[in-house]
Amino acid sequence: MTQPDREFSIFRALQEAGEGVLDIPSLSVLRYKSPSVLIAEFQATWGVEPKAVALPVAEADGFLYEVQGLRGVPMSSYAQPTQNLRAFEDVVKVFLGLGKNIILTLCPTMGYIPGEGLQLRDISGASSPQLCFANPRSSEVLGAILGTGIDIVRRVSSKTAGVGLQGIAIDVTDLWGMSGELGRVEATCFCTSCTQHFTDTAPDLLKHFRTFPNPWSLLLRPTDTGIDYVSEVSPGMTPEEVVGIARQRRYVEQFPNADQSELLEHATLLLRYMRSRHALTIGAIGALLDYATEGLDETYTRILIMEGETYGWTSGLWIEELDTEFDDEGNRSYDEIWFNVTPGYLPQTVPYRAYMWRRSRYTINNFFDLAGSLSNASMRVNTMLSQRSIEECRRMVADHWQRVHGSALSSQAALVMLPKDSERALEKKIRRGFVGVGLDREFGDRFSDQLAILPGRADTAARPVPDIDLASILYRLREGQA
Ligand SMILES: [Zn+2]
Repeated sequence: MTQPDREFSIFRALQEAGEGVLDIPSLSVLRYKSPSVLIAEFQATWGVEPKAVALPVAEADGFLYEVQGLRGVPMSSYAQPTQNLRAFEDVVKVFLGLGKNIILTLCPTMGYIPGEGLQLRDISGASSPQLCFANPRSSEVLGAILGTGIDIVRRVSSKTAGVGLQGIAIDVTDLWGMSGELGRVEATCFCTSCTQHFTDTAPDLLKHFRTFPNPWSLLLRPTDTGIDYVSEVSPGMTPEEVVGIARQRRYVEQFPNADQSELLEHATLLLRYMRSRHALTIGAIGALLDYATEGLDETYTRILIMEGETYGWTSGLWIEELDTEFDDEGNRSYDEIWFNVTPGYLPQTVPYRAYMWRRSRYTINNFFDLAGSLSNASMRVNTMLSQRSIEECRRMVADHWQRVHGSALSSQAALVMLPKDSERALEKKIRRGFVGVGLDREFGDRFSDQLAILPGRADTAARPVPDIDLASILYRLREGQA
């Protein structure tokens, strides 16, 4: 007599994983996989069909559609993904046709939008190519880009029954750059808008960050390839606790002459700065979303895509604070967050989805930024990338993807391993589901093969190429110092 197979409790964990969303961070993936293949692969990986598909409204190398008032901004080489999908709206149409709702994702770190006045500025006033997210004009520009995408989905979905625009997501994983050398930490931004915000909300605060060593060095420490940081800092932490961490991690070595009372003073200033910047960032998110949805009767789920650390240095946000502020229904500017769930902090109030990639979109964006800079004339000539030939760049991109893909959490097992929600969170269904990314290991080779890379100096002159560490190239590119 045959015995029936038993069902183990992890099956229930899978059911609790909730509804799936397929994230497509770049339309370049459609060159190798059709929409239906992407959905079939999602089902094969996760055991469920995605309820919605997240599509980008712009790429690292340019726009995906024309935006009124922003003529002259470069179009992405993926604005026409394939012979059949000839425009962004064709992509929307096909996914709607497959019965999927659409979520639009906006990554605001676009380096190709001209306008010195909108860019991030460091202490010395030097700008980097990235938009300052807190500049009110940036909110209008980004709001128009997202808003145009919303209109396209609304127009296309008016002809399909049952599915439509479900949400709009802002990827906040890399809003604020950091740079520096030992004892000289520089976090952005010191543009007029940011300076004004700090003057209004915390007068005299910023001046303490204009000298070295400054309060940032308690929790940030530059290395040869980037910045080491402490992110396990909750909003309720005391100055004593911050100094304690700085001692433990030996970051206090950056303050050779400071005694305990001076360090405590730095810690108090640092916590005030973090609080003020959290408010600045949330305000900018609200403004952007208001512009993008102005005049619409419908409401869409407003989503923040975050890394998932206790404090996000490059997002300027505390998840715990977002969770607390969520109770203030009248004032909140988000309805859901996506992040890489770790045992750190689990929301008790704000609905969330587990983003199934370590550091969520952060490393994925870095990859596309690097690729985008290879097809950008000034980046290609004026950065360390100019030392590399086209073929070397191609290999570098493919190799880099292997490392980025190492952070993928693409398996049912990863879903089962997610930390368990508290009883209260389970009851309120705080976890809405998960986000699976439509990029596999093979993507890097196929993507780098078709990438249009501009010739660099190494392609015209025959000379030895120094061995350059990719991590430091990326770091310098992002900080605009290469
Ligand atoms: Zn700024």
